Amino acid sequence: MLLTEYRGSIMFELTGKTAIVTGASRGIGKAIALKFADLGANVAFMHVGDGEKAEETVKELEAKGIKAKAYECDVSDFEAAKQLVADIIEEFGEVHILVNNAGIVRDGLILSMKESDFDAVINVNLKGTFNMTKSIYQHFMKKRRGRIINISSIVGITGNAGQANYASAKAGIIGLTKSVAKELGSRNVTANAIAPGFIRTDMTDGMPEKAREAALASIPLKRPGEVEDIANTAAFLASDEASYITGEVIRVDGGMAI
Ligand code: NAP
Repeated sequence: MLLTEYRGSIMFELTGKTAIVTGASRGIGKAIALKFADLGANVAFMHVGDGEKAEETVKELEAKGIKAKAYECDVSDFEAAKQLVADIIEEFGEVHILVNNAGIVRDGLILSMKESDFDAVINVNLKGTFNMTKSIYQHFMKKRRGRIINISSIVGITGNAGQANYASAKAGIIGLTKSVAKELGSRNVTANAIAPGFIRTDMTDGMPEKAREAALASIPLKRPGEVEDIANTAAFLASDEASYITGEVIRVDGGMAI
């Protein structure tokens, strides 16, 4: 066998699969969508804002020779999420992979944190993950296969001053992931979480300079993570090679939370 053939055979392969990625018009979600498309998967993704950015992403995905479609939908709206998943199943046929990536931050010490900031972060990050999981649940059960990949955060493991809402939501996602793994394991559905550390995106670009410096100083690998670092892990978890991994939380953080 030629070395190139051998190399080809060990690459993750998602040809013929369809993935839903929440929040993929930019950042980590976009990198995951592009990586999945590179590996042959069709991609349906959701966004709430900038329709132009979403359309740009659709074009980039289609250029890789797969089917792609963007849907405007707020994951925190249960009925909207349910309808959206039904629409995607109708449009694409079977769905094989769900990536719950959509997330927001509303940072502040509890002393000054508004109730609405707590609720908004829980509703998008945690309830959005529940809404999407519940909406795809029966489809995966019936097909007796499926992959759920939830984007948590290392602060869901460690906690973080100024992020009580976000850390609670991300810790909740870990509990949700493990529960889903136990509920759906007998149906050949896996559920895993990725806990990113400090990844360069719009979300971290918006951090105060002091907080960014402190975060960078605490990373043993001495660099921020790139969106591709998370996308590569998601690709592995979606692949056949990860079929015996479920209920796991994989830190992708350059050692930040060791
Ligand atoms: P980002 O650049 O701010 O992108 C967030 C994405 O989520 C956008 O595509 C946004 O859509 C979408 N979104 C936000 N609210 C939504 C809603 N209600 N319904 C549907 N989509 C919604 O963030 P990111 O840095 O890529 O983060 C992606 C995920 O990784 C988040 O869950 C975040 O908590 C997690 N994470 C990030 C880091 C990091 O260092 N960056 C670290 C740990 C965990 P629009 O483009 O339409 O606004």
